[in-house]
Amino acid sequence: MERIRLGNTVFEGLNNAYLLPGDRPTLVDAGVATDSVRRDLREGLDATSYEVADLEAIVLTHWHADHAGLAGELQAESGAPVYVHADDAGIVAGDPDAIAAEREIRERRFGEWNIPDEPLAEVTTFLDGHDDLRGDRVDVTPVEDGDRIAAGDGDLEVVHLPGHAAGLSAFAFDGERGREAFVGDVILPKYTPNVGGADLRVDRPLETYLDSLARLADRDFARAWPGHRDPIDDPAGRARVIAQHHRERTERVVSVLDDHGPADAWTVSAHLFGDLSAIHILHGPGEAFAHLDHLVAEGVVAPPDDGGRYELLDADPEFDELVAVPETKR
Ligand SMILES: [Zn+2]
Ligand SMILES: [Zn+2]
Repeated sequence: MERIRLGNTVFEGLNNAYLLPGDRPTLVDAGVATDSVRRDLREGLDATSYEVADLEAIVLTHWHADHAGLAGELQAESGAPVYVHADDAGIVAGDPDAIAAEREIRERRFGEWNIPDEPLAEVTTFLDGHDDLRGDRVDVTPVEDGDRIAAGDGDLEVVHLPGHAAGLSAFAFDGERGREAFVGDVILPKYTPNVGGADLRVDRPLETYLDSLARLADRDFARAWPGHRDPIDDPAGRARVIAQHHRERTERVVSVLDDHGPADAWTVSAHLFGDLSAIHILHGPGEAFAHLDHLVAEGVVAPPDDGGRYELLDADPEFDELVAVPETKR
């Protein structure tokens, strides 16, 4: 298995694509649709002595442009099927209804979160300006949890781990160290993947994501290959650290409401993250929303009032029960 490093000047950090060589050469993820990334990908394939036309399968971890952008043109050149989870298939396929549905939820949430006009204009310009990074239309083959996709000399098992995105899926395979997985943005080695802003279609985003972390920890993969940065040697341990991080953030959200009284998602975000620009204008209040929404469902915070403000009901909840941190086996 070969890792192909791709540039990404649009969103943070570099992206990884992966090539599984063998009977059925398979590419996992494709970067943003820009000339420099297009070049990175071709040069990366070249270094593994494959070319685009050799690809017999393309699998995508989720719909975000930095993972799916080039899939359409790679498919056009190779004829390879493109596999992605059914929940993300519509957006990757460029289905106008799926794209409009996502935009509609986004605009509704921006209103509910009370994003002020100036940052709202900035993030809208940012998002609209990057629509073309999604690249060409894709003829998608949707997959579901548990499906097996023939890839390389074996297969990839689809492990649906939603939260950061609705269709986000890991792909497990027999690697050098045992059962390993391509994990996209389910866990990353350095950052905590955004939850609540990265895919507004996800219901109960924090709870959904915590369930996925628990499931990932339970699988105890020998190694994970993320969508950004270096491989993760102890994926279960990393899932635990990220869950712990969310527990601490939940405590901070409760203390913000305790200190300042009822507040909307934008205000809570400002207390957590300070001033935001570009994509963070979406991710910051999204993250605050994910935590507030979870606290509402758990009865710690009242549902938002007409002004989008959340009122604290219980200043001393049982945080261990609110945010489960998975046990690790090692
Ligand atoms: Zn992502
Ligand atoms: Zn990503």
